[in-house]
This record gives sequence, C-alpha cells and structure tokens, in this order.
Amino acid sequence: MAAFRGKCPVRRAAPNRNPTVNWALHKADLREDFNNHCGYCDSYDGYAHTYFEVDHFVPKDLIVKNRWPITLVQYSNLVYACKFCNNNKLANWPSNSYTVFHIGNKGFIDPCNKKYSTHFYRRNNGEIMWNTRLGKWMYFNAFKFDERNPGIKLLWNLNRLRKALDKLYEARKKNIKTSKKFKSIQAEINKISAQYYPAHTKLMEYYRNL
Ligand SMILES: [Zn+2]
Repeated sequence: MAAFRGKCPVRRAAPNRNPTVNWALHKADLREDFNNHCGYCDSYDGYAHTYFEVDHFVPKDLIVKNRWPITLVQYSNLVYACKFCNNNKLANWPSNSYTVFHIGNKGFIDPCNKKYSTHFYRRNNGEIMWNTRLGKWMYFNAFKFDERNPGIKLLWNLNRLRKALDKLYEARKKNIKTSKKFKSIQAEINKISAQYYPAHTKLMEYYRNL
C-alpha cells in the first residue's frame, strides 16, 4: 500500500491576478499551489498526456442556476484538475447548498483539505483505491477511478522513474566527473533512463488511444 498523494495543496490567500470574469486567469497560481498535480487524482501535469483545467469545486452551473453568493472567479472555490477529473465531476453535487459539500457518504471533500487523501489509498502499483464510504462514492460516482486505473498506473510508474532520475541528477552534480561515485551514479541513471523512455512512450500511446 502506498500513500495516495505526495503533498496536500494549499491555496494562496492573495492570488496574483484579480479577474472579474475569466477564472482561467487563475490557472498559473493554481498550478503552483497544486504543485503541478491534479487536485483530485494527483496526476502530474508534466507529461502532456492530457489537458489541465480550472475546475469549480462547487460546480459553476449550480452557482449560476441557484444564484449562490459565490463568484465564478473566487479563488477558494477553484481546483487545478486534469481533464478527466474535471469532465467526470461536472455538475455532480449532493446538496442544495454551496456550503454543504457532502451529505453522509455522498459528495466531496475539497482537495486542499488534508482529509481528502484519507478517503483513498494506492496499491503499490499506483492504482487508486477507496478507503471510506465517502471515498467510494467519489471513486465511482464522480471521478470514475475504476475505469481510469490503467492510465493512472502508467502515470504512477512514470512518476516513480522521474523522481528517481531527479534525485540521481542532483547527486551527480555533487561529484566530480572522474570519481568512482560519479560513474556509479551515471550507470544508475542509464539504467533508469532505459526504463523511463519506453514507459513515457507507453503512457502517451495509452492516452492517445483513449
Ligand atoms: Zn485528475
């Protein structure tokens, strides 16, 4: 069993932009605050396997329809999300109120709430699983992680390799080229790179064919 996500995202109190209409102008800040990961499935955005978008946690259609007193550009209601999470979630909302995120075991937890990750876990191969009844509801009814796990597994594997390579590149910098240590680090880099590039191709092929 592995942890569901690396870091819990934290929304900044004062965003750099102050749009009145176009919430997409918050995307750069959100991207940073969500550490380049989808708030819901924790996919990394650096592989260009899909688009990353600005999601309204309380759905925008409901805000408009019910005239709820939050604006569509309100930063605290925005989530950096991959296209799949955003499309699956849509106007799915369990309550008649913008302040009630879940009723019993149906509904959502804001991904910037530390508790979000307690509702899920990962198998060692990266597959997302649910941990609680509310997690189960989000899993099947909102984000459809069951259908998406083949791609999520590929992303997880690639992430694992990318992080290992990043660590090795850092370690390599600290050693002189002629040293034994440098050569052993380089050998490890070569070994992992040989796995990384085919894993990247596999990921891109999978998402291209979806
Ligand atoms: Zn996602």
